[in-house]
Amino acid sequence: MMPREAEIAIIGAGIVGLCAALELARDGAEVVVLDDAARHAGTVANAGSLHVQMQSRFIRMYPDQVPGLERSLPLYVAAARRWAELEAELGTGFELKASGGLMVAETPESYEFLARKCERENRLGLTVEMLGRAELARIAPYLGEAVIGAEFCAEEGKLNPLLANQAVRRALLAVGGLLLPESRVARIERDGAAWLLHHAGGTLRAGRVVIAAGAGTGALLAPLGLDVPTVAEPLHMNVTEATAPLIGHLVQHAERMITLKQLAAGQCVIGGGWPARLAGAEQHPTVEASSLIGNLRLASHIVPRLARLRLIRTWAGVNTTCDGQNILGEAPGLPGLFLAVPGDAGYTLGPLVGRLAAAALQGRDGGFDIAPFSAARFRAAA
Ligand SMILES: Cc1cc2nc3c(=O)[nH]c(=O)nc-3n(C[C@H](O)[C@H](O)[C@H](O)COP(=O)(O)OP(=O)(O)OC[C@H]3O[C@@H](n4cnc5c(N)ncnc54)[C@H](O)[C@@H]3O)c2cc1C
Repeated sequence: MMPREAEIAIIGAGIVGLCAALELARDGAEVVVLDDAARHAGTVANAGSLHVQMQSRFIRMYPDQVPGLERSLPLYVAAARRWAELEAELGTGFELKASGGLMVAETPESYEFLARKCERENRLGLTVEMLGRAELARIAPYLGEAVIGAEFCAEEGKLNPLLANQAVRRALLAVGGLLLPESRVARIERDGAAWLLHHAGGTLRAGRVVIAAGAGTGALLAPLGLDVPTVAEPLHMNVTEATAPLIGHLVQHAERMITLKQLAAGQCVIGGGWPARLAGAEQHPTVEASSLIGNLRLASHIVPRLARLRLIRTWAGVNTTCDGQNILGEAPGLPGLFLAVPGDAGYTLGPLVGRLAAAALQGRDGGFDIAPFSAARFRAAA
């Protein structure tokens, strides 16, 4: 039976919506989560990298976003730790490993850029250090000769999202949360002090609503008069056959689009933001051959032994971009409607952003000042 009433409705069953729902259901709330069949979702497609240090490529591309990125730095540290707590709480391993992350440089200029970033991040309280070629040869002998140094962040790591997503979903169902995975919300409408959600299976009346719909968030809010410019960004991913332990860290590049890591079972995951496209009437995330070739060529340049492995799967998924920062808290002028969209590296942020959204809805202090992440900033900018 499709429910018609709920205390709390959550739109979006990505990592943020699931984690917000889990927090609320654990506190005894009646929670219904509606999703659009994960048609455009990062949670079911991502690489499982736990990012903490600032991405130097983004600093160069979007210098105007640097103050926001710096303000968000403590959240990334807390978010990586929250993942470890969650794994322990749920009692299910999701291959989480804080193995440390290397952002590699190939030229003296980009090494210098990383060194300045490293100094700035240390001043902001992050524990990061620069490593030269000799130290890299010792701790990361798998890196190719083109790499001359790297910035190392011990807090970074990886997990297996296939295991983590399942574990969170199971935990939510076990505490009584209701999941409607094929219930796209077409429209949200005010109904007295509550909200009506018109979805694929009918209408749900909810006292309070969390919108954790990733790239779909802007379209839900626009008819309510709030401009939140979320954009769907289709991205490319690859995974190789399993091999003996090879890549011990999360590896990124100072200038180029690459993330590399190895899963516990030995497969190497290769990604880093290469573009895919939305194709056909269904706007299905679809692989671009140029990204496949470019991503793999760069991967085997950074870690030459990858060139000997066969690719077993390549896929595309939809990331959400906005202005690089979280969108969190009650929507301005829309009482009872809460927003939960993570900033860049949103899977890393997912459980923490879910927790902060749940705390905002309950009127509790979640441990961070979320005022700077209010959607009011878009209104001010407009
Ligand atoms: C290929 C790829 C690799 C990535 N790798 C990493 C990584 O290694 N590390 C990292 O930190 N981040 C990574 N990301 C980013 C990360 O996956 C996302 O930022 C994160 O999953 C966002 O979670 P979310 O819950 O906010 O949104 P999503 O996972 O996008 O979920 C939003 C959900 O809302 C639903 N929805 C939307 N509109 C509606 C509607 N109208 N009605 C009902 N439901 C709706 C969608 O179906 C979807 O399931 C990657 C992204 C991609 C695409």
